Amino acid sequence: MMKPQCWVLRLGHRFVRDDRLTTHVGLVARAFGASGISIVGGEESVKASIDKVTERWGGPFTVELVEDWRTVIKRWKNEGGVVVHLTMYGIPVDEVIDEIRSADRKLLVIVGAEKVPKEVFYEADYNVAIGNQPHSEAAALAIFLDRLYRGEEFKTKFNNSKLRIMPSSRGKKVVSVEERIGGENEDRV
Ligand code: SAM
Repeated sequence: MMKPQCWVLRLGHRFVRDDRLTTHVGLVARAFGASGISIVGGEESVKASIDKVTERWGGPFTVELVEDWRTVIKRWKNEGGVVVHLTMYGIPVDEVIDEIRSADRKLLVIVGAEKVPKEVFYEADYNVAIGNQPHSEAAALAIFLDRLYRGEEFKTKFNNSKLRIMPSSRGKKVVSVEERIGGENEDRV
């Protein structure tokens, strides 16, 4: 697990309309070092898509669908965690990231969709901006996690993966882990 441990809270998911983007937020969270995501008002199909990636490409990574974001924040604070809200109105990431990292406490990173309730701005220990221009929750989360982990997240070894990529300058080289254990490599281009 990456240190400090990170969990993502996705707010404001709009039924069906945000399926793809919420799935991308989950995939970014997994690939950039977070250990799980709570999705407020998300559908089973979104959870299933992210879980499927974890099943094939490895974990651990947990997805939970929740009804109430206040309960998630409360639980996190009771457990001694820090709450970071990503918003274009916040403090520039480079001004606070060292302080957040060095506190060495687990982090709940909140990303929104449309308008985020004002209360979230006050519940958060840090309101952090990834630039002060509007863009995307997936981009904001990726940059935040990369700054937090300083690129080390890409060295993560995912457990129990069925597939692994052999980096190559051309084409797609994918190894089936089971076949590899059996001595046979599979190349798909
Ligand atoms: N007005 C929103 C805001 O407060 O950042 C922009 C809405 S944007 C479509 C959805 C989410 O993306 C936001 O709730 C926020 O989590 C994230 N986001 C967008 N731009 C951001 C930025 N510059 N810095 C940090 N987060 C950002």
